[in-house]
Amino acid sequence: MMKIPFNKPFFTGNEAKNMAEAAFAGTVAGNGLFTKKCHRFFEKKYGFQKVLLTTSCSDALEMAAILCNLQSGDEVIVPSFTFTSTANAFLLRGAKVVFADSSPESPNIDISKIEELITPRTRVIAVVHYSGVACDMDEVMRIANKHQLLVVEDAAHAFDSFYKDKPLGSIGHFGCFSFHETKNIHCGEGGMLAVNDKRFTTRAEIIWEKGTNRAAFYRGEVNKYGWADIGSSFLPSELNAAFLYAQLEEMKNIQKKRRLIWENYRKLLLPLAKKGCFRIPEVPDFGTNNGNMFYLITRNPEERDTLLKFLAKKGIHAVFHYLPLHSSVFYQDKHDGRPLPCCDNYATCIVRLPFYTELSQDEMEAVAAKIGEFYH
Ligand SMILES: *Cc1c(COP(=O)(O)O)cnc(C)c1O
Repeated sequence: MMKIPFNKPFFTGNEAKNMAEAAFAGTVAGNGLFTKKCHRFFEKKYGFQKVLLTTSCSDALEMAAILCNLQSGDEVIVPSFTFTSTANAFLLRGAKVVFADSSPESPNIDISKIEELITPRTRVIAVVHYSGVACDMDEVMRIANKHQLLVVEDAAHAFDSFYKDKPLGSIGHFGCFSFHETKNIHCGEGGMLAVNDKRFTTRAEIIWEKGTNRAAFYRGEVNKYGWADIGSSFLPSELNAAFLYAQLEEMKNIQKKRRLIWENYRKLLLPLAKKGCFRIPEVPDFGTNNGNMFYLITRNPEERDTLLKFLAKKGIHAVFHYLPLHSSVFYQDKHDGRPLPCCDNYATCIVRLPFYTELSQDEMEAVAAKIGEFYH
């Protein structure tokens, strides 16, 4: 029987060469040659003001949360339909997380409901660009500026995706990226923080390097380096950066393939969507498709579960996510009890189809054919 996995990490073939080069250069701790190459790549290609590679997106989110300077009892608005890291980062700072619902149109946060969650203790709005499709950032920034709040973009899905002419992750005060093996480009585990407001740049570098001003020391700006602030070891080793750089060098091909996969899935499944069997993702005029993932939204939870089982029996590994954070075992007692029906709907009706850079046209057609068989 044909087997189609959900994910297959992509390798360009140059990762090992770059890692060997890093090793032979003699320094494999962080912030070396390849880290700087990766930083320059993002700053040049997308015009990011300042980026710092991190060991994961979770760590980039934690850095952003530290930089937001939260006090105990401060509130942060976070969508419930996301990965745990988006919320954990703020809880770790002693903040209170106020969960927001998704929009009826897409799994992104419902922006029209953000303002009613704002209280005098609100400090931050966190948004997730689900599947790399932009939230309406003009609207998010308008609300944030009106109430003097900071904005953190969880751009874990959003590498090489845009809001109007702006790269995602460059619009809020902070943008957090993931280079986990399930994302568009990867280094196994990895991430990046984009610092988009100059007021935070110096402190970001210090927090990144265990609370020391080592980065400024290496640039010759100070003649001694020491303990300057709180911080942690957020920077990845050169081996990870060297791996990641090999992927960045190939990003044009990777992204071309992934966008095509997304478009072909859409073409193959549009007829069934038009018949009303399920919904497929829409990209609003202000957003782009970055080939992050493809998903269906079934009519009800029972159909979702039977479809997943049917596909599994045919050797196709489709998956679901996220379990709503507001009703998780960990958070249900801390949540204020508001129902978040759109979040619950996506959590119980989303089917993520196999999606990886080397997914072939034949495999895609096989997936679509089995879905057609299910609905026949
Ligand atoms: C993958 C993911 C993360 C975590 O990324 P890591 O690099 O694994 O820490 C955070 N948020 C979202 C929305 C994600 O999909």
